Amino acid sequence: MRIFFPKGFLPIILMLSAAPAFCQNNFFNRDETIYKMVNEISADTLRYDIEKLVGFKTRHTLSNTTSEIEGIGAARRWVKSQFEKYAMNSNGRLSVSFDSFFVEPDNRRITRRVELKNVIATLKGTDSTDNRIVVVGAHLDSRATDVLDSTSFAPGADDDASGVALVLELARVMSKMEFTSTIVFAVFSGEEQGLFGSKHLAEKAKSNNWNIIAMLNNDIVGSSGPSSDTFLKNNLEVRVFSEGIPSFETDFEARIRKMTGLENDSKSRQLARYIKEIAERYVNQLSINLIYRSDRFLRGGDHTPFNMNGFPAVRFCEANENYDHQHQNVRMVGNKQYGDLIEFLDFEYLKKIAGANLATIANLSLACDSPRNVIIEVKDLTNFTTLRWERPKGKIPYGFFVLIRKTSAPIWEKKIFVKDNSVTIPYSKDNFIFAVQSVDEQGHESLPVIPVPSSK
Ligand SMILES: [Zn+2]
Repeated sequence: MRIFFPKGFLPIILMLSAAPAFCQNNFFNRDETIYKMVNEISADTLRYDIEKLVGFKTRHTLSNTTSEIEGIGAARRWVKSQFEKYAMNSNGRLSVSFDSFFVEPDNRRITRRVELKNVIATLKGTDSTDNRIVVVGAHLDSRATDVLDSTSFAPGADDDASGVALVLELARVMSKMEFTSTIVFAVFSGEEQGLFGSKHLAEKAKSNNWNIIAMLNNDIVGSSGPSSDTFLKNNLEVRVFSEGIPSFETDFEARIRKMTGLENDSKSRQLARYIKEIAERYVNQLSINLIYRSDRFLRGGDHTPFNMNGFPAVRFCEANENYDHQHQNVRMVGNKQYGDLIEFLDFEYLKKIAGANLATIANLSLACDSPRNVIIEVKDLTNFTTLRWERPKGKIPYGFFVLIRKTSAPIWEKKIFVKDNSVTIPYSKDNFIFAVQSVDEQGHESLPVIPVPSSK
């Protein structure tokens, strides 16, 4: 992507990007505070947290809740105590709680009435007028081969202690810092039995009108391979899955999407492209492999209920999966080891994925809100395009970036800085897709907004 910097920008560190070869003149404007936080993430802490989680023997949803050393009860109390430890360094801004609810038997994956508890740590934003919320989540529960087996050893090191350790590590590093918007660190329950915990939180968010601008789900993010059957290794990429056509849209939104060819431009996909740009700016030796589908075949995750409730949400997942180490009883068959054991994880790789999450969340939470009422003029037949927008509420932006790409291009190709609230450029609206994002003086960008056609 070609970036046109505003005059006031002083790029702190300039580096060549890992962008495709057709891009020239790429350079990064890194915020030193964010870069420092990314580098504070510790592979040793991630390893320690996963060892601890694996040590609970099983974290199955229907497992023991009273033992101090085994089962889902002990595991969630430990996660809560870790968050509480970090809360002590947060100047009173990190609050920790169980988000409890009951699930009735469904004759499938829930055999008895059971109380589930998400563990939620909320880092309150410094600006009380800013109601934006960014959620980063992972699931605590694990499973063996039989989804109803609540007693066998089910370490779930990769699925999904890796994600939980990532969320804990972000809470440790970020809760010492200040952000204008609120950040929610969510450790979900009941994922393997049917996404119960994330569904509960997403529905609660919807009914309480929470302004969730992004939800980042991390599920199976700890192994760089080799994969079970193709033996691929990859510690340089992570996949980010995002839905194309939104699971939830109004009739008006659906009509605009069909009319203007925006099948590839859902809010979740804007978030995914944003992650690619920001994560690759801050994390060395990691590129984001954007997967343009909501999840893998036959699989789902905790981002899905957020999508269903209209929130932008994506899933991080390692580059290649090993099915011998997922949803498998720990056992030897011949000389082949099955089971989701910690020995197959790569903590330096997990650290980079944690960095990708942190950089995205920090950049977003420090940025101004997105511009409002972004429109594209369609009243005249012209090869020029005029875009107009209003300033967001809250912190005032330094200016705006207009993003441009060909309709067939997967990611934004040009980024033009505009000081005003409108722009007219010689790019035909018929041939390009546009978006507008706010940018503050330090260069933090908001999420981009796709304009709505207006004949006024
Ligand atoms: Zn999982």
